[in-house]
Parts: sequence; C-alpha cells; structure tokens
Amino acid sequence: MQAKRTVLVTGASRGIGAAIALDLGRRGYDVGLNDIAAQRAQTEGVAQQIRAMGQEAEVFCADVSDKSACAAMAKAFLDRFGQIDALVNNAGILIAGAVEGLPEEHWDRVMDINAKGSFLVIQAFLPAMKARSYGRIVNIASIGGKHGAPEQAHYSASKAAVMGFSRVLAQEVGPLGITVNCICPGIILTDMGRVNLEDPAVREAWQAKTALARIGAPEDVAGPVAFFCSDDSHFVTGQTLNVDGGIVFS
Ligand code: NAP
Repeated sequence: MQAKRTVLVTGASRGIGAAIALDLGRRGYDVGLNDIAAQRAQTEGVAQQIRAMGQEAEVFCADVSDKSACAAMAKAFLDRFGQIDALVNNAGILIAGAVEGLPEEHWDRVMDINAKGSFLVIQAFLPAMKARSYGRIVNIASIGGKHGAPEQAHYSASKAAVMGFSRVLAQEVGPLGITVNCICPGIILTDMGRVNLEDPAVREAWQAKTALARIGAPEDVAGPVAFFCSDDSHFVTGQTLNVDGGIVFS
C-alpha cells in the first residue's frame, strides 16, 4: 500500500480543478484546495466531498498572481500537511478579445494568472520538494497554447508560456527528483469552456473536429493528471499531453 500522499490543486472551486481535486481524493490523496477568497464557500463544498471519502482536505485561499499570498499559502499547506508530493497548477482565466482592441489590462491579467501564477506557486513550494528530493508538478496549459482561436491570442500566449516554462523547469529540477509535466485540455464543458460553446453551431463544429466526436467533461482531464502526479510517471518529465478527445495530433 502506498504511503499517504498530499497534493495542492489551484483553482479548485469548480470546473476542471474541482474534478481533479475530487479524483485525487478518491485515489487516496490528502488534498489542499486553492481558489480566490471570493470562492471560499464553493471550494469548501468540494473539500467537504473529499472529507466524506475519508481523506483530509483543507481550503487555502490565495490569488495565485500574488507572490506573498502564494508564499503564505505554501507555509499554511506545509504546516497543515507536513509535506507536498504533488502540485497541480490549474487556476486560469480566459477573457476573450481580438488583438486590435485588446485592453492592456486584459493582456496583463491573463498573463499574471495563467503564466506568472504557475511560476509563483511553484517557486513557493520548490524548497519543500527540494528538501525531500521529491515532487510532481503538473501544469494545466491548453491546446489553445498550441493552436488557439480568434479572440484568444493573449490566452494562447499565456498557455504557450506555461509549456515553455515547464520544459525548462523540468531540466532544472530533474536532478532533484522533481518532475514537471503539462496537460493541454481541449474543449471542456466548464464555465470557462462555455465561452467556446455558447453558439450551437460552434459547439457542433468543435464536436465534429474531435476524433471521439464529443466535447469533454472536467472528469476527462482528471485521470491523465493523476498519472503525472503518481509514480507511474516517474521517468516522464518536460512533456505535454493533449487531453482533447483527438483535436490536436502533436
Ligand atoms: P473555470 O471553470 O473558470 O475554473 C477556473 C478556476 O480558477 C475557478 O475556480 C477560478 O475562480 C480560479 N481562479 C481564477 N483566477 C484565480 C486566481 N488568481 N487565483 C486562484 N484561483 C483562480 O475554468 P476551467 O475550465 O475549469 O479551467 C481550468 C484550467 O483549465 C484553466 O487553467 C484553463 O485555462 C484550462 N483549460 C480549460 C479548458 C476548457 O475548455 N474549459 C480548455 C483548456 C484549458 P473563479 O471561480 O473566481 O473564477
């Protein structure tokens, strides 16, 4: 039987983050759930479901784009759980807008949360992983970071940044026993995913583009994340896995 394992999932109040947190709870992890303070009650609801499975779960509110909040979250997590085995950087936002009229603050906000947020959370937890010569880091990027769609150039740039950052970080921390991998979800039915799916014609077009002929559910992303969190992937690092039902074939 595997020793107790711990994980922090960011952006875990709903959508893909909540599905990942619940799945890892089901697999026996003790789970830290992060989200912004405004989502405390909803995140606590997810934590309650994990406790009902017999696992420990704790909510850590922090804006992942705030360095001092990330440092405080890492300290609180380590005080509570003693160690971190896996870190899933899932928190992200999408503000659609064509490049020509895109407000600078939309570019900054998307970059700050999607790209810098992963960096800040990782930086806060690296010393604890390094001290145990062990860690599994999973960054949620997007197929949008490889292809992208109109009105999402800044989102695409932020997710491409996450992938580039992860490839280099994997090389820096590999000798320390830490792996770093990315997941690229495709079109997943969440509050964010609905932006791509509001128009029935667009939804059908996405569905037709998918080899498996369907839009994804948040739960579809959880298994591949669990693989990268586990020791089954101990010789895999710096990789990016599309979890999109077959839209992008590279
Ligand atoms: P979602 O339903 O909007 O959930 C995102 C979560 O992140 C929310 O709980 C959100 O809180 C939280 N969050 C936002 N800003 C944060 C911050 N600064 N600090 C901490 N938490 C923050 O989105 P989702 O569809 O589940 O997406 C999860 C991840 O998958 C994102 O990184 C997204 O880019 C990626 N992804 C999604 C799709 C898709 O089709 N859905 C496809 C590819 C990639 P609020 O509730 O307050 O917003």
